[in-house]
Amino acid sequence: MVDKSSSFMRSLCMGRIEEDIVFPFPAMDPDEREMLTSVIDSVDSLLGPLEDDFRKWDQAGEMPDEFLQKLKDFGLFGLCIPEEFGGMGMGSAAYSRTLQQVATHDASVAVTIGAHSSIGMRGLLLFGTDEQKQRFLPKLATGEMLAAFCLTEAGAGSDAASVATTAIRDGDDWVLNGTKIWITNGGIADFFTVFAKIEQDGDRARLCAFIVTRDMDGVTTGPHEDKMGLRASSTTSVYLDNVRVPSTNILGPDNAGFKVAMAILNNGRTGLGGGSVGMMKRLIGLASSYAGERKQFGHPIIEYGMIKEKIGKMVIDCYVAESMVTMVAGLIDNGYEDYAIEAAISKVFSSEATGRTADEALQTAGGSGFMREYPYERFVRDCRINRIFEGTNEVLRLFIALTALKDVGEGLRELQSSVKGVFDHPIKGFGVMSEYAWRRAQLAVGFGKNGIANVHPELQEAGVIFRRTARALAQAADRILRKHGKNIIGEQVATRRLADIMIDLFGLVSVLSRVDAAIRAKGVQATAHEREILHVFAVRVERRTQDGLARIDDNEDDLVASLAVNTATAAKYRWDTV
Ligand SMILES: Cc1cc2nc3c(=O)[nH]c(=O)nc-3n(C[C@H](O)[C@H](O)[C@H](O)COP(=O)(O)OP(=O)(O)OC[C@H]3O[C@@H](n4cnc5c(N)ncnc54)[C@H](O)[C@@H]3O)c2cc1C
Repeated sequence: MVDKSSSFMRSLCMGRIEEDIVFPFPAMDPDEREMLTSVIDSVDSLLGPLEDDFRKWDQAGEMPDEFLQKLKDFGLFGLCIPEEFGGMGMGSAAYSRTLQQVATHDASVAVTIGAHSSIGMRGLLLFGTDEQKQRFLPKLATGEMLAAFCLTEAGAGSDAASVATTAIRDGDDWVLNGTKIWITNGGIADFFTVFAKIEQDGDRARLCAFIVTRDMDGVTTGPHEDKMGLRASSTTSVYLDNVRVPSTNILGPDNAGFKVAMAILNNGRTGLGGGSVGMMKRLIGLASSYAGERKQFGHPIIEYGMIKEKIGKMVIDCYVAESMVTMVAGLIDNGYEDYAIEAAISKVFSSEATGRTADEALQTAGGSGFMREYPYERFVRDCRINRIFEGTNEVLRLFIALTALKDVGEGLRELQSSVKGVFDHPIKGFGVMSEYAWRRAQLAVGFGKNGIANVHPELQEAGVIFRRTARALAQAADRILRKHGKNIIGEQVATRRLADIMIDLFGLVSVLSRVDAAIRAKGVQATAHEREILHVFAVRVERRTQDGLARIDDNEDDLVASLAVNTATAAKYRWDTV
């Protein structure tokens, strides 16, 4: 029986490989697959003919109302809303795959739908009372109301806890004051999930989530922001000026707004991941057909090694990102409770893979890639934000590694206290010690020798690499913690290195599981290319992990940091050749 409260990556950092969480690769049920296939076809027939319009709307920086209406009529704002409220009732996997298809056509459209479903009304789905759901979900499903997620403020970006918007209790209502900035769908939404600080008797100010609607007095929105990318999507400030919100509009426990915000972001991440994969698939199609047609020096450029390398890497990046995002969606759909690290990993990897793919696709198209006539430059601009919003990749890397280190640290602390307590509580003390000793023994005797039990024999080479690398990860976590102890919070580069190893390992196990499922479904022969992807990725992961492990003790981090401090003091680059 699989423990649904376990996290695969957290366990891995403790030296345990919980294979049952990630094998077999999550599969969609046949009914959902059939429904999804027809949704994908319809998305293509709706958006496929609009390529010229997307280019125009990007340049104009807006999306016409008539087009927005078409998206509503099509039901694209009701993807995740249960059927009883008029939505399509999609799970995370189907939702993510639909956003993927939308993003192959245009990222502004994908983010308009995504901000509504992934974050804008996700709090209502996750924490709403029956009454709140009855009141809002039917309108949100038809698009009569669009939703936005309002957390960011001028002084509260990554540091979400420093929100300054206030909510003061007045009778049965709360009175909200503050300004939210850069809110996706701000100009078109009627339903806002707003985070504000409340004061409770003698309590520290805490975040609370409120449902605010545009028809409430005191709610206004600013002008459309002039952005680098996603230009046709609406991004505005949202102003709250003495807005009276009834207590019945509080989402979740009234003092748990931070948890509500994080749960929304974690649960909605497969939307962003799906969008990233969609952009990559389109770029791979564009770049590979361009490379096949464009001739230089008498040959199509696809015949040249460096162009092949670019396209091959794009394919690997896309396959890995797609596998991770599908794995996370599967964890959510299968009822796992603790998938925050895996979701953060999939966001970081897929957003960076899209950045690499967009950049190299543009490079493959040469000067044409730089021209607005082609979509490459739009994709480069549009995908850039994915590394910034819904948690910057830097802050997510801290979250990924520090959560794992906390577990390892607790293991060490428990060990210490159990040793102390061995004489008082021998049985309890022995239990903790044997758990820790088991893990250390696993690390010490090389649990890299065997592959993975659940994996097809044809893939055991990658299975062995996974085990060896997993061992290196658990060792790295131990070493980093022993080296820096409590000061680990200030050791961001060491933390980042651990996060990078974790990201690679989740990628590797996701691909391994997916190729395993593919072999079982199609046979060994039909999976030749997928096995090649797995092989290349596994070998590279191991190489990167070894390098990351070596860098824990052997690095130039202090020198690099000192260059940064020195430069920041002068606030400029200090040298010149003149
Ligand atoms: C187009 C767009 C749409 C958006 N949509 C929404 C939305 O719908 N709702 C919403 O609430 N917000 C939205 N945002 C805001 C977005 O989520 C924030 O921009 C993001 O959280 C980062 O905050 P910041 O921009 O203030 O950057 P900062 O937090 O100031 O970060 C600046 C840099 O410092 C780094 N950094 C910060 N803290 C640390 C640390 N402790 N250690 C190491 N590095 C650190 C960051 O990674 C980043 O590189 C949107 C932003 C944009 C541009």
